[in-house]
Amino acid sequence: MRTGPQSSSGEATLTGLSQVEYRLARDSIVREYQRGRLSRLDICDAQPELLRVARNLRRTTEVDCPICEDAKLVHVSFAFGPRLPPGGRPLGSNAELQTLARSKDEVAFYIVEVCTECGWNHLLRMFNAQAARRRPRSGRG
Ligand SMILES: [Zn+2]
Repeated sequence: MRTGPQSSSGEATLTGLSQVEYRLARDSIVREYQRGRLSRLDICDAQPELLRVARNLRRTTEVDCPICEDAKLVHVSFAFGPRLPPGGRPLGSNAELQTLARSKDEVAFYIVEVCTECGWNHLLRMFNAQAARRRPRSGRG
């Protein structure tokens, strides 16, 4: 597939506001899998804990899993900060994210996409509390 000009400057894209996109890295892994260079064993390695969180949160997207194409992807948000668990704290809602973003701590948020069917998982986006506060998103859910 050849589409328009794309930045080829590394794996992550800085989108301003201390937000980093990992979609390019994610897409290139999916392509490697589709070309047969990676097996499911290589990439569908979600930790049991991550799968458990993903099932509990049930924040399913409309996007099919690119690997098994059998299930919808789930987005799991984690918050990392000085007063949070070392492995990060899974967030149940946007309201929870906003609450943490308003705290004075240096909190970083990671969005991970997970397929609870085959175990595919990849980091999608990382942003800090400042970026989270500026997100023009009014609460739904
Ligand atoms: Zn899957």
